[in-house]
Amino acid sequence: MSWGYGDFLLSKDCYFDELSKSNPFPVMFFLVLLFLLPGRGMMKFVTFACSNRLFIHGNMKAFFHDTLRIIFPYTCPACGTPLQRSEDTICLSCILQLPKTNFHLLPENPVLELFYGRFPVTGATAFLYFRKHGIVQKLIHQLKYHGAQEVGRKLGMLFGKDLRDTAFVQDVDFLVPVPLHPKKLALRGFNQAEVLCLGLEKTLGIPLVKDQLARKEFTETQTRKSMYERWENVFNVFEVRDPALFEHKHILLVDDVITTGSTLEACMQSMREIPGIKISVAVLAKPVL
Ligand SMILES: [Zn+2]
Repeated sequence: MSWGYGDFLLSKDCYFDELSKSNPFPVMFFLVLLFLLPGRGMMKFVTFACSNRLFIHGNMKAFFHDTLRIIFPYTCPACGTPLQRSEDTICLSCILQLPKTNFHLLPENPVLELFYGRFPVTGATAFLYFRKHGIVQKLIHQLKYHGAQEVGRKLGMLFGKDLRDTAFVQDVDFLVPVPLHPKKLALRGFNQAEVLCLGLEKTLGIPLVKDQLARKEFTETQTRKSMYERWENVFNVFEVRDPALFEHKHILLVDDVITTGSTLEACMQSMREIPGIKISVAVLAKPVL
């Protein structure tokens, strides 16, 4: 069946019929806003409301959603442009520009090489390349220093989408975030590795175990220390509360950024005595040297 101009007019009539039956409140709300919103704000509101589904489709839910977006616009944390209704947390253009490593598809890769001679990891990967002033740095900055946990969850979900259905996660039993020291946790309010795990859990369907691997003592900040000092500093500071839980299991250790790999190695050392354990590593970003 083909649609002609008559059908189009008929469908328009139906929309207006639907509108006339709906609650008059949105129209009143629109008129009040018309007088309240000054200058550009009012113009934007009039433009969207006239072209919007309130008058065309009579869809109240979408109308209020759009109104809220005009008053409190959500912007992309990487480029700052307002998000479209179909976009979630990060704009599509920035998602397409993410510098992926695809290390999980390679038998040898720079993250895996970091652990050679240090710990027999089953697999290791990083989702993105981290460059100074790049898009990944901006996103991680928003997550860690501006409390934008939704950015971490979104990146975790995107990471999980890439890992799903690959051999890398085929027999992984648990996602385990690298723990943050309680003092830092209290300061920041959340552990960014755990936030990443929440996103990964959503797309991978692998359960997150968050309170088993814990720090024993506070370690000083990692910056301005040599590789040996870092290793010495973090070695023997982690413990597994119930080692039986990880027996004969494959653990995926998750962290935000990997530099020397010393923190991850210390986590693995605390699990080395657990019978039959396999450990893989997934980090959000690896700096490009
Ligand atoms: Zn963007």
